[in-house]
Amino acid sequence: MYSITLIPGDGIGPEVTDSACRIIEATGVNVRWDRFEHVGHAGVQKYGQPVPDELIQSIQTNGLCLKGPVTTPIGKGFRSVNVFLRQKLDLFVNLRPCKCLPNITTPFKDVDIVIFRENTEGLYSGIESYDERLEIADSIARITRKGSRRILDYAFKWVIANRRKSLTAVHKANVLKLSTGLFLNEAKIISRDFPDVWFNHFIVDNMAMQLVLKPEVFDCIVTTNLFGDILSDLCAGLVGGLGVVPGANLGDRLAVFEAVHGSAPDIAGTSTANPTALIRSASLLLHHIGEIQASKQIEWAVHQVYEEGESLTPDVGGNASTEQMTDQIVHMIHQAPTVFRD
Ligand code: ATP
Repeated sequence: MYSITLIPGDGIGPEVTDSACRIIEATGVNVRWDRFEHVGHAGVQKYGQPVPDELIQSIQTNGLCLKGPVTTPIGKGFRSVNVFLRQKLDLFVNLRPCKCLPNITTPFKDVDIVIFRENTEGLYSGIESYDERLEIADSIARITRKGSRRILDYAFKWVIANRRKSLTAVHKANVLKLSTGLFLNEAKIISRDFPDVWFNHFIVDNMAMQLVLKPEVFDCIVTTNLFGDILSDLCAGLVGGLGVVPGANLGDRLAVFEAVHGSAPDIAGTSTANPTALIRSASLLLHHIGEIQASKQIEWAVHQVYEEGESLTPDVGGNASTEQMTDQIVHMIHQAPTVFRD
C-alpha cells in the first residue's frame, strides 16, 4: 500500500484528479490518499494561507504527490502555489514528455520530445521588487552553477537510461550573457562526460521557430525555467494541446506529478475537460515508484482509446465527457496485457 498526497486543485482539477485516481485504482495498485482540498484560493479562505503547513508535511512524509491544477491570481494576490511547491520542496526537475497520440489531427505525425525544465530558479526565483517613486518593477532571473548542473546532469543521465539519442540545451546567451550564458557553459562542460549523447544547443527564439517547422528532428530538450514553461506549452500544442501532456516535478527525494495545463476556468464544470494529461501524470508516478507494469498498462489503455477514437473529449476532436473518456480508459485497462516487455 502506497501513501500518496492528493491535491484535487480547482477549476477542472477535481474532475481530472477523480479520473486519475480511478485509473490508478483500475490497475490494482493499492493507494491510501492523503487528500488536501483547501489549497490556493480555498486555502487562503480556510487557513489564511494558500499552502497549509500540513500539506508540505504530508508530501515530505509520503515523498509523493498527485496534484491537480491550482489557479494563480494574475498580477496580484498570493504567489503561484505551483512555483511555491517546486521551490519549497526543491523539485528541481520538471519533466514533460510531448508525444503524438493516434487520431489527433495535428500538422506533424512523429513528434516525441521530452522537455527538462529547470524548476526552481531563473525568472521564477521570486526575487521581485517595485520602486513606487520611480515606478520601476524588477524581476531577477537568478541562475546558479549548482542549479544548472543538477538539472543538466539529470537530463543527460535520463537520456542514457531511457535510450534516447540527443539533448538540446536552449538558452539566450547572446543577450542574457551572464545568466543563461552560465547555463549554456555548464551544459557544454557536462556534455563532455556523456559522449554517447548527441549534444547541441539553440537560442530560444530560433528553437521556437525550429519546433514549429520540423519538430520531429528534436529528441530531448533541457532549458531554464521560463523558456521551459513556454516551450513545453508550444510542444503540447504540437501533439494536440494541453489536455494530453503530463508532467513530473522531481527532487532528490520528493516528487509531485501534475499535468502541464492549468485550471482551465473557461471549461470548469462542463464535463469536457480532457483527463489524459493527469492520467498520464499518474502513469509517470507509477513508473517512478517502480510499478512499471501498471504504468505501461495505463499508457497502453490511453493509446487504445485514442486509436479507437470513439471516446475522446472535445479538445481532441470528440464529443465524449470527461467521465465517458475515463470509463473507456478503465475498460481498456481491464483488457490490457498484464506483462509488457521493456
Ligand atoms: P496556467 O497559467 O495556470 O498554467 P494556462 O494559461 O496554461 O494556465 P490553462 O488553464 O491550462 O491555461 O488553459 C489554457 C487553454 O487550454 C484553455 O482554453 C483551456 O480550456 C484549455 N485546456 C487546458 N487544459 C485542458 C484540458 N485538460 N482539457 C481541455 N482543455 C484544456
